Amino acid sequence: MTPENLQKTDLDMVGEYARFDDDPNAVPADRPPRRETVTVAAVGGGFTGLLLGAELRKLGIEDFRIIDRAGDFGGTWYWNRYPGVRCDTESYVYLPLLEETGYMPTEKYATGPEIFEHCKRIADRFRLYDNALLSTEVTQLTWQPATSRWLIETHRGDRIEARFVVLGTGIWGRPQLPGIPGLETFEGNSFHTSRWDYAYTGGAGNGKLDKLADKRVGVIGTGSTAVQIVPRVAEWANELFVFQRTPACVDVRANRDTDPEWFAALPRGWQRDRIRNFTTVLAGGKADTDLVMDCWTDVKKIAAGWLERNPGMSVAEAAELADFEKMDTIRDRVERTVGDPAVAEALKPWYRRYCKRPTFNDEYLPAYNRPNVHLVDSPDGVERITPAGVVVDGEEYPLDCLVFASGFELPNFTHASRTGFETAGVGGILLSKRWAQGMQSMFGMHVNGFPNLFHVGVSPQGIATASVTHMLYEYIEHITHLVQHATAHGIAEIEPTREAEAAWIRNCRALGTPLHSGEVDPGGAYVTDCLPEFVRAAIPAADPPDTDSAVAKAVAEHGRGPLGFFAFLAEWRAAGDYEGLDLRPESALGRP
Ligand code: NAP
Repeated sequence: MTPENLQKTDLDMVGEYARFDDDPNAVPADRPPRRETVTVAAVGGGFTGLLLGAELRKLGIEDFRIIDRAGDFGGTWYWNRYPGVRCDTESYVYLPLLEETGYMPTEKYATGPEIFEHCKRIADRFRLYDNALLSTEVTQLTWQPATSRWLIETHRGDRIEARFVVLGTGIWGRPQLPGIPGLETFEGNSFHTSRWDYAYTGGAGNGKLDKLADKRVGVIGTGSTAVQIVPRVAEWANELFVFQRTPACVDVRANRDTDPEWFAALPRGWQRDRIRNFTTVLAGGKADTDLVMDCWTDVKKIAAGWLERNPGMSVAEAAELADFEKMDTIRDRVERTVGDPAVAEALKPWYRRYCKRPTFNDEYLPAYNRPNVHLVDSPDGVERITPAGVVVDGEEYPLDCLVFASGFELPNFTHASRTGFETAGVGGILLSKRWAQGMQSMFGMHVNGFPNLFHVGVSPQGIATASVTHMLYEYIEHITHLVQHATAHGIAEIEPTREAEAAWIRNCRALGTPLHSGEVDPGGAYVTDCLPEFVRAAIPAADPPDTDSAVAKAVAEHGRGPLGFFAFLAEWRAAGDYEGLDLRPESALGRP
């Protein structure tokens, strides 16, 4: 796949598709519009909003707002309530603030409902409901130079002025429908996985979908979400048709209950240590031990084994061989598990490990041995949708219900289409326009022309960690440090200079990226051959200058890997001169 293939073909949930985006979980209560001024506003009440709110509370900064279109905290865990939903990252490194809240996850891999409950626990513990505006959609952010504040407008008529705004809108915030012809003509029931229709299917959370007993259900997509849904629907539906374009890479889950004695004996500070260990192991760094020991981390051991047995071998070669060995194990597992050889063959992932986001499940493959489950495999995908069902390679599959496991808006498709609102910076320039040729930032957080605005987790000039929680801890520390510094020193505006932003991007390109692993050549065939979705996500949709530079941009993360990047940020803050940022005091802006 090349960047030219990345033109947007999916459908946004607006106009005739708007009903797919309705919140089935909340009935918003009426309230009068708010007019207020706060020091900090966060857009997004997922992990970013929760961690930011908790940190601000600890620092004694009380005047902040957390705004979310969802009816509660939780972000992705609020929306994604589909049957089987579970986190692929170990709960002890993924669930934030376990020590602070005193919570012990029940299993090594927590269910969605448990994570959602934990989000609400954090909100309760840090009194964040007092600061929340829920079921509230931001419609516009506008920089106001006269006051050096952002004006936040919402669909409820709120006008909130904030000195600083943190965008915690996430990567997978906007669900999208596949752009398949005829989608709107389907006469059965249909919905997106992040808006699961339990009224139609029966059940709740992971419960029994008993209303599907007489239904023919179709699932379009075989990503991480579909892999979790398929076993649950297979159990209850009369017939299940899974429409596959690319087979999933399904590794071992091996979930288990938490041992309360082990958990109780963990020393103070254990969670930060464990998170750092997980990041270190996955980044190919030096760690005395692998604390998590799961199928995210085991490929590193395979690579280490190759190096040990072959002293002259390069790290890149060992990684390549480990990748192949790992994928072969995964293909073997398909063959051993799925009874029908033709189905097994179609379910085998033929690509390298990171070409499609790895998944972990012990029930997905056995589901294909059930007589009511049918794999419909076509690399061309679904041809069209009719009033009665789905057509693949000329054959129509009649359905009562169609589930779109088709994923989410990728960050590369304009800021506005990903977040649902526009951001107008200095001189009225729109962020979507500023980023039309790809995201540009300093540290993945600061953008020239958009003072006092912090981005979290979307820019390729920042860093990605295998446990998103780690990245968020570090970013929130950075942001709250700057907010505190500005507040303490009468600084009205913080903005990266154009030169610093450009230099940072150049720096990222020159260093390349360890692409999560520390061993993949950023401009090499691994990336250009497959462009995994998390890299694809960062490639500008329109007119990339050329493949090399688009790829370079997409993979531009700090070359020292996540821990190096975080150490760099800490050093930069400690230096105290905030190189690259223009810090404008109130007095310099002619204000007393
Ligand atoms: P996804 O990974 O984007 O998968 C979408 C699926 O829909 C793919 O299989 C894709 O096929 C298919 N598709 C899209 N358009 C299609 C079309 N026109 N015809 C046929 N098939 C089409 O979405 P997702 O599974 O919802 O996962 C999104 C992200 O959520 C993941 O990357 C992951 O980070 C996160 N997630 C995490 C967990 C967790 O445990 N932490 C669980 C679930 C999801 P192709 O593969 O051929 O493109």
